[in-house]
Formats: sequence, structure tokens, C-alpha cells
Amino acid sequence: MKDNLEFDILIAGGGTAGCAAAIAAARRGHRVLLVEESNALGGASTTGGVPEWFASLTGLGDIFDRVKADLERFGAIFFGRFFNQEILKAVWQLMAEEAGVQILFHASLSGARVEDGSVREVSLLSCSRPLKVEAKYFLDCTGEGDLAFLAGAEFHQGHPETGRTLHMTLTCILYDTGQPVIPYLPPGLEPVERPEDLPGLNARIPLGDGRVYVNMTKVVGHDPTDPFSLSDAELEARRQLLRVVHYLQRTQYPTYTMASTGASIGIREGRRIVGDYILTEADILDRTPCDFPDGVAVATAQIDFHSLTRPGHVGWRQRVEPYAIPLRSLIARDFRNLLMAGKCISGDQVAQSSYRMTPTCCAMGQAAGTAAALAVERGVEDVRMVDVSELRRVLTADGMELDPRRHEAFPPVVEDPPDRSAAV
Ligand SMILES: Cc1cc2nc3c(=O)[nH]c(=O)nc-3n(C[C@H](O)[C@H](O)[C@H](O)COP(=O)(O)OP(=O)(O)OC[C@H]3O[C@@H](n4cnc5c(N)ncnc54)[C@H](O)[C@@H]3O)c2cc1C
Repeated sequence: MKDNLEFDILIAGGGTAGCAAAIAAARRGHRVLLVEESNALGGASTTGGVPEWFASLTGLGDIFDRVKADLERFGAIFFGRFFNQEILKAVWQLMAEEAGVQILFHASLSGARVEDGSVREVSLLSCSRPLKVEAKYFLDCTGEGDLAFLAGAEFHQGHPETGRTLHMTLTCILYDTGQPVIPYLPPGLEPVERPEDLPGLNARIPLGDGRVYVNMTKVVGHDPTDPFSLSDAELEARRQLLRVVHYLQRTQYPTYTMASTGASIGIREGRRIVGDYILTEADILDRTPCDFPDGVAVATAQIDFHSLTRPGHVGWRQRVEPYAIPLRSLIARDFRNLLMAGKCISGDQVAQSSYRMTPTCCAMGQAAGTAAALAVERGVEDVRMVDVSELRRVLTADGMELDPRRHEAFPPVVEDPPDRSAAV
């Protein structure tokens, strides 16, 4: 095997955005390398243990439509928006293979070489071997903006004053053993006696197949981009989870036990890479649907800004009118060939709390992958030279509805009255 590789497009991160980007670019005939540090595709929605789509599910492009249709064939969608994560891993893999994507698992980024505002090469570490990959275009779909960070791109993180990010959660699936279980809590862990004392949300959702999705831990005040802080968060989350499961076994689920937990703690928010445009709270709270001439995806989900400090508090939820995500928010400022898609794009913290949802990440991925593909096809060294109207035409032909007025806000009605002060 060669240690120095060359591709047209390198995509870092095989989560939802990365998979969609890779498929969009590869099916146009380009040589695409998809670099993923785990052993499966899908990111937060598979290995991360989040089996739920939270957004309107139409007009997001033919890649998302295909994912939905394939999951349906497996009978792996429940109540329209929950899915079997193990099947989703396979669905993404088969789609990527069919498109001709070269998938590299167990590979983590370790560096990026930049010349004259262009990323030329990234360094990877896989199976204890260093690898170098050159490409014409690079897409950061790592969720935490690792590639852009390594390339030296500017980024923002967390609350502008405190730096606090939305909390992290280790999710879990419970299954019914069919007989009473013995709830056990190791010494040193405090039992939860009342719902008010739960560390996170009281969110346990029966999936309709005998399993229950538990999204009830809440680790605040940790930094998902700091190695020791992230490790502490994992440790704290697992302690919380033992307390949560012990509580559930003594209350609603006396015959249930843990089947699995996320392979890594769920990170709602990491670095937000600064792009040519920063999508803001003011944009998304516009009462008329916010549109841009270079809109390449549409987000529909509410502001879902969990309290940054308080346990168990849902925080600030507010309906937004569907809004466009401009291509400029997917292009790293000061770079010619570096794009982002998914939760690490260029936006402020409040806007991110809405566009971070998985279906929206899929649409962004398709848009960024298509933009990079067109740049390669036109032979341009700066993605800004791609004809935006052509990109929008291609995306529309590929099933994306780019007019925010033709989308529906999700959910249509938000139960909690908007309370911005609940965000802190
Ligand atoms: C607890 C929790 C609950 C949520 N609930 C919902 C919900 O109900 N509905 C909803 O729609 N959304 C929900 N979200 C949000 C949503 O899951 C994510 O924001 C979205 O899936 C992110 O997609 P992405 O492609 O941007 O990133 P990810 O899915 O995080 O993918 C990033 C990928 O990059 C890989 N990677 C990272 N760094 C490197 C590196 N250095 N080298 C190589 N690979 C790397 C990772 O392994 C991962 O596979 C939730 C999130 C969390 C954490």
C-alpha cells in the first residue's frame, strides 16, 4: 500500500454530512476519499447513538430521500422519524460503495499542509501508520471542525462570553428482558429519587420494537475539543447513566436493562468554523423566511438551545421559519479549497442550535459535495468561482427544494413558550 495518496476530493468525517458529501461528489465521477475514525458511517446518528431525525423531512435532496427509502425497505423506521442505527450504518455504507466512494476507517486526522490559502495535503494516522493524502478540494465534516482547525482556520466555540457549549450526552438503548431485573447502584453514586433530580432531560422514548431510547444524561462545563475535558465528560456521563438506568428500573422499566450506549459521548456543539458568512440568530429569527441568493440547503428545526448550566432543563426552544443556508457559510474564510458541512459550519451559537439537526446536515453535505465536484469539473482552484446558479440548478435537479417558503417549520408548534433566559 502506498503511504502517499492522491484524490480529487478528501472528506474528513463519515457522519451524515460527510456521507452525503462523499456520495454527491463520487456519483459525479470524482475520486473521493472519505476518512472516518470509527468503524462505521453515520456519525452521531449511528455510532453516536442518536436514532432520531428532528426536522421536516422533505425537500432535503435525493440522498436523504434514498436513506429514508432504504431504511423503510428494512422496516427500520419507527413513527416516521426514529430509526434503527445498526441498519443505518449499512445503508450509508452500501450507498457510498455504490457511488464509488473510497472509505478509509480507523483513520484520524493529524495535520494539514496549507500553501497560499489552499490546503494541499492532510496527514492521517491509521493502524499506527502515518499516511499523507493530497487532494484538490477538502471538506471538513468532522462535527468539531478538526480539519479546518488543523489547517489554521479561524473558529468560534461556545457562548461568546462564557465559552460554554451545549451540553454533551451519552445516550443508551434499553431492552426488555421479559423478567424483573435487580436494580443495582455501585457505592458512591447518588440514587435519583425524583424526576426533578435527573441529571438531564426526562427523555426516554419507546421505539416500538421493545427497545427504549434514553437521552437523559447531561454533562455541562466540559470542552469537547480538549482531550482531558472530553475524557472527563465520558466518565461523568457513564456515572450519570448508571444513576439514570437505576432510576428507570425502579420506576417505569422494572424488566429493562442496558443493551448499548453510544460509542462516544454525543457532542452537540464543537468548533464553528468561520466562513465567508456567519449565519446568525437574527437571520433565523426573521419573521419572513430568511433566504439568500446563494442558498444551498434549507433548515427547518426550532432553536433547541438547552440550558448551558442547569440539569434537567430543556432551555430555550423557539419556532423558526424555515431558512436558507448560504454557500458562503460552507466555505472557510481565507481558504480557497476548504469547505465545511454539518454542525461545524459558519454560524453563531443560537443558529447552530437549530441547523445542527441530522436531516439538515445531510442536505448541507449534499450541497458541499456538489459544490466541490463542480469546482473540480470546472478546473477552478477557488470554490468561489463555481457558478452558484448552476450549483443551485444541480441541487434542485437532485431533489433539493431550495426555496425556504416551500418548507414547513419543525415542529409546526413548539410547546414551550420562547424563553431566551432559559438558555443560560
Ligand atoms: C445527544 C444528542 C441528541 C441529538 N438529538 C437529535 C435529534 O433528536 N434529531 C436530530 O436530527 N439531531 C439530533 N442531534 C444532532 C445531530 O445528531 C448531529 O448534530 C448531527 O448528526 C451531526 O452530523 P455531522 O455529520 O455534522 O457530524 P457527526 O455525525 O458528528 O459526524 C462526524 C464524523 O466525523 C468523524 N470524525 C470526527 N473527528 C474526526 C477526525 N479527526 N478524523 C476522522 N474522523 C473524524 C466522527 O467519528 C464522525 O463519524 C443530537 C445530538 C446529540 C449529541
